[in-house]
Amino acid sequence: MTFRRGRLFAVALAAICLAPATAHAQGIPTPEQHFGFKMGTEGKLPTWGKTKEYFKLIGDRSSKADYFVEGKTTEGDDYPYLIISSAQNMGRLNQILDANNRLAEAKGLTQEAAAELASQTVPVYLIEAMMHSTEMANAPAIVDIVHRFATENSPYTREVLNNAVIVVIPAANPDGWRKVGDYFNQTANTDYARTYPDLYHHFAGHDDNRDWFLFTQAETQHRINLTQRFNPVVEHFMHQQGATGSRIFVPPWAEPVSANLDPIAHESGNALGLEIGKYLTADGYKGVQHSMGTQNSYGIMFSADVATYTSWRGASLILTETATQRDLAYTYTNANPLGPQGRSMDVPDPYRGNTWSLEQASEYAKAALYAGVRSVARNHEDWLLNTLYKTTSKSLSATDVPWAYVLPAGQRDAYAVYETLRTLELADVKIERATAPFTAGGKSYPAGSYVLKTQQRMGRFVNQILDNATYPQWARPCATCPLTMPYSEFTDSVPIFFGLTADPVPSAFTAATQPVGQVAPESVLLPAAPPATGAYLVAPGSYGLARLLGSLQKWDVPTFRAGAAFSAGGREYAPGTVIVPPTARARMVLNETAKATGIAVQAVDTTPEVAGFKLKPGTRIGLIRGANNMPGGWLMWLFEHFGMEYEVVKASDYDKLDALYDTIVLAPGVTRARIVSGLDMTRYPQEFAWAGGAGEAGWSKLAAFVTNGGTLLGLGSASETAQQLLNLPIQRVATTQPFSIGGSLLRETFDPAVPAAWALQADGSTYFNGDRAWNVSDPSAKIAGAYPGTGSMLASGYEVGAEQLRGKADIVSLKAGQGNVTVVGSQTTFRSWPRALWPIVANSVYHGPSAAVSAVDIRTLSAAAVAQESGEQPQPEPEPETAAPTTSAPEVKAEAAPVATPAATPVPTTGAVAGTSLAKVTVSCKLAKSRRAVTCTVKGAKGTSLRADLALGKAKARRSGRGTITLTLRSATRLKAGASVNVRVTFGQTKGAAKARIGRRATITLR
Ligand SMILES: [Zn+2]
Repeated sequence: MTFRRGRLFAVALAAICLAPATAHAQGIPTPEQHFGFKMGTEGKLPTWGKTKEYFKLIGDRSSKADYFVEGKTTEGDDYPYLIISSAQNMGRLNQILDANNRLAEAKGLTQEAAAELASQTVPVYLIEAMMHSTEMANAPAIVDIVHRFATENSPYTREVLNNAVIVVIPAANPDGWRKVGDYFNQTANTDYARTYPDLYHHFAGHDDNRDWFLFTQAETQHRINLTQRFNPVVEHFMHQQGATGSRIFVPPWAEPVSANLDPIAHESGNALGLEIGKYLTADGYKGVQHSMGTQNSYGIMFSADVATYTSWRGASLILTETATQRDLAYTYTNANPLGPQGRSMDVPDPYRGNTWSLEQASEYAKAALYAGVRSVARNHEDWLLNTLYKTTSKSLSATDVPWAYVLPAGQRDAYAVYETLRTLELADVKIERATAPFTAGGKSYPAGSYVLKTQQRMGRFVNQILDNATYPQWARPCATCPLTMPYSEFTDSVPIFFGLTADPVPSAFTAATQPVGQVAPESVLLPAAPPATGAYLVAPGSYGLARLLGSLQKWDVPTFRAGAAFSAGGREYAPGTVIVPPTARARMVLNETAKATGIAVQAVDTTPEVAGFKLKPGTRIGLIRGANNMPGGWLMWLFEHFGMEYEVVKASDYDKLDALYDTIVLAPGVTRARIVSGLDMTRYPQEFAWAGGAGEAGWSKLAAFVTNGGTLLGLGSASETAQQLLNLPIQRVATTQPFSIGGSLLRETFDPAVPAAWALQADGSTYFNGDRAWNVSDPSAKIAGAYPGTGSMLASGYEVGAEQLRGKADIVSLKAGQGNVTVVGSQTTFRSWPRALWPIVANSVYHGPSAAVSAVDIRTLSAAAVAQESGEQPQPEPEPETAAPTTSAPEVKAEAAPVATPAATPVPTTGAVAGTSLAKVTVSCKLAKSRRAVTCTVKGAKGTSLRADLALGKAKARRSGRGTITLTLRSATRLKAGASVNVRVTFGQTKGAAKARIGRRATITLR
């Protein structure tokens, strides 16, 4: 990206007639002038709206700062950042970034040449404030920091800005700052609690800094883009810890160290942390804490821990954790002095006070940052050479990791391969694909296999997420001491989480390969349409099957699932195979899903002879997620990722659960208390009433919903809630100490004949994070998953005492009255990581409400579905995707379901035109790759007189014609996910409308 400095040029000309030292800062109000109070004032917080406005103003008016928007947040706000440096550096920014990129790529650059280049450029120091939106002392801090650097002309700022480029991400989660800050102000002078009570990141909540290896959220993707563009030497993130701990934590980091991160990252980060500590101590800031080889604080074991993406790219991590004040903005008072009181290497100068204010927390955060940036500015050449350049340079010739990983072609789950490659692509990993068969590590691989060589910049990251390292046994303070535990989880093994094969190959091999320009799903050709007596079949095996089920439901396509194994067309099919009557609409849905997932679709001439289940059309899924319950947020993300429609169950829904839902999912963390009592609504405003308590009556109604025929899925700890709700005949396995499995993958045996486990590999694994297993006393209960009876219990990570779970049940399906219940004791939806296990949710939510049907029923119902469609006008086949640069994702076609007609005009049902003649109009829309235009094609019967109006916000387009018309609407801005497009169609006397929504993945969905 090129940074244009046109505006700067204009400012520079104007400055000729003015005193240069003061001209730049003129017109920039102080924070106090802009916000109306001094940053750090007791009880006052800057709002996100005002802060964004202030930073934009600084970017516009300061010659030392520029303001950019990287993209949109999950909820559609701006995700901005600022670049701050001396005016001279700002004028040669592209040159600086180019030089830093050459150093960071290292390729073809000798150490001498690198040293020479390092002397001609300056490093980038990346600051991230406000990742956790309730850690509010960092909000006034970042406002002061930006203001100071952009306006002050002191020896300090001159030294820093002449020798470094500062990139400031003021809010790693802008939506959260907006929610928490606005809510704080709205509740001023009320009896309400002052802290926002729900997830402050729409999906991830406080887990927004736990997305470092799958990059699922928009904000994470923006941050990795910025990292890739700016090649920072330091990523400095500002957090807050508990009120009673030390006053501020700065590295050195806690044990254990990563086996994969380059030790340069630790050494540089630890050295800088100590340097910051030195300055803080010298300036009288007491209560600084490090973790000098001890384990009393934050660690950076690997990506599942808090080692961010940036740490794999020659940057050191600096974390500051200041102590928290009270109620976001008020002074905390304690009976005793705050924080550790004994002197140690970790806490060289304890804090003796017993109060702690917003201003203090903010001052500590600023002081640490000012010290860190100055240190890097003073040693700028050293950071560029010894940290940025040498990290990559070493990676390019690394021999302590496998030479490559091979993802063999033709794997069981093409979608898992695609999602893995997509993750690696986002991470800037160079991917190659074999053009011919080859042999590596004594194994033969077909053409089409993917090769990931590790001697590349991101090679250690490849090894980190594709390997399955045992937890380091050396991680203990003394030979007889217990093993040191990581700060966070124990595993990030993507092949196990996603259920794919990635073979490490230790030494070099030769293979004819091509670089993969853009990762795409495996291309799949749909077979020719079968005759009306036939069927489409999709074998279970890919977790992407969930996307297919979601799509078939959304388009109301009749769908059956085989209740047993069968053979058809010379192939064997497992239980749970999806059987779809061969209508044109089914073909459209299958085609779209196959393209998006790489899942193969088969066609047979005769409906298979197997009994099974007919999915309930439009199955209504309710999610009880709990306020500020992160697993509930991740479930929302997963439902949306797989295109499965759902609603969050509200407290007011409990009176009519039967009328609203077919299936209810209890997110992990949903307890009886959350359902019965919920949020205390005397302490929160009405907008959170959805999370209020449903009372004992609500609890009973939830039980009645199930026993009257509803379906319930209890996940993780909510499996115990389900057990309690219905007094299920299962008992939690009692474990005795030692028992410690805190975020590892345990082996699990799935029974793919039980519907909950359809599509799962029999020998798989699950994510266990201090969870539970079940003794099952009811012989009619179906065990879909159990811990293995023999062999190793551990699939990845670390365990003590797992033996106590041997042979015990994890996933159990039972009848409760007329209803169906499935409980899952482990955490199969944890942060979206164990993707291979998503079929458990997808199967359960649709299977419970489905109806058992015989083979004859399937044949009869299938024939009826085909007959019904052929009774209508034939639908046009979806057009083949053109190679034209119009769309970056599969298009979706739909009939314009006419709605919103004037009262006088009969409302046509789908495809039917008022009057006697039957006609049909279809609408298909595409989003341009630029995301700045939408093109819709409206097709009617030959010669039909058509007029269409396309509207998107205030923009409109109109077109009239016969048969087929195409109209395009252009937008000045990039269209964001969630934008609504309305197409109104007039044909003859009848009017119809179709509503479309732009999806997160640049698709358009017509409803
Ligand atoms: Zn935090």
